[in-house]
Amino acid sequence: MAIKYPIVRPVLPLLSEYQKYIEGVFERNWLTNNGPLHYELETRLADYLGVDNLMLVANGTLALQVAYQALELTESASPILTTPFSFAATASSIGWHGHKCEFVDIDPTTLNLEPNKITLKQLSASSAVVATHVFGNPCDVKSFEALSKQHNIKIIYDAAHAFGCDFDGESVLKWGDASTLSLHSTKIFHSVEGGAIVFKKEDDLIRARQMINFGFNNKQYPDKLGINAKMSEVHAAMGLSLLDNINVIQEQRIRCTEAYHYQLKGVFEFQTWSEKSSNNGAYMPVLCHSESQLLSLMPRLLELGIQTRRYFYPSLSEVPCYGMNGDTPIANDISRRILCLPLYANMTLEDVTDICSLIKKALVSLD
Ligand SMILES: *Cc1c(COP(=O)(O)O)cnc(C)c1O
Repeated sequence: MAIKYPIVRPVLPLLSEYQKYIEGVFERNWLTNNGPLHYELETRLADYLGVDNLMLVANGTLALQVAYQALELTESASPILTTPFSFAATASSIGWHGHKCEFVDIDPTTLNLEPNKITLKQLSASSAVVATHVFGNPCDVKSFEALSKQHNIKIIYDAAHAFGCDFDGESVLKWGDASTLSLHSTKIFHSVEGGAIVFKKEDDLIRARQMINFGFNNKQYPDKLGINAKMSEVHAAMGLSLLDNINVIQEQRIRCTEAYHYQLKGVFEFQTWSEKSSNNGAYMPVLCHSESQLLSLMPRLLELGIQTRRYFYPSLSEVPCYGMNGDTPIANDISRRILCLPLYANMTLEDVTDICSLIKKALVSLD
């Protein structure tokens, strides 16, 4: 059967809305390198999210790499503590940066890296923690901040899922030395490919701005190592035309996740969301009772036209190229049982009801 409900479907603006921005790009013939649309998106995004020191980059993976470099995590002998329950880019960016990943286990309810599981030995040997706000659910940011102060280590949040997430009434992106966003087309808000970094300190932002343009200083002299991580005007145009509609896009996704939770209550277990935050409608993960339930359910749902995704699987601490350092039984178990259900722009509440009743039927037929 054809896929009726895909796992994701990128949100697009009206072509006319995109065109309005693109016409300006053609008129100016200014395609990249800090153009006016780049400036407008950066300013409006910082304002929308309620943060200072935000900069745009070419994608969410480069956002992580540039953050490590700008925060001067250069002591490559010291491992970086991180979560095994995240997307490949979290661990891969650390390895690519020349550091060893040391995986620490997650909390079985929030699915986030558990600060209390980091040992004193690990804290004294490491230079940084890279934690993910999994599915947009804020980490225990206060405990991480305490660790950072007591042990002089940097905290970087992979906030790729946390667009528009609050914590205690303010953007969660304000926590940590840096938080990184992905603006990839599968995310809630995107610029086709794109990313952003929010730094706590302006000095780090200034250093990072130079780094993403080959390390050139204002005299066009490369006085530090750099890379090319610039966002183009064409990408910024997509971001701007979606930002014009972001409230509608996000509210509809939140309504869908609420309907899913209501209709699947008792059928699956759900992630426990931080009490100081509200769900941003980024993903719809459910926990199956066992891996064997998941493995029989997935193909059955596909036959019914419902695409699902094992996200995140496998646990990053079980992947050889990330070094397999650290004992993480909880993450390994969760990653075998987690399943993300379809959630995308323009999904209706009728779609959610249809999907939930098909899931319930499929589960009965498996018993
Ligand atoms: C999407 C994602 C990234 C990577 O972002 P790109 O923009 O695709 O490079 C990193 N971390 C997490 C948790 C993600 O979901």
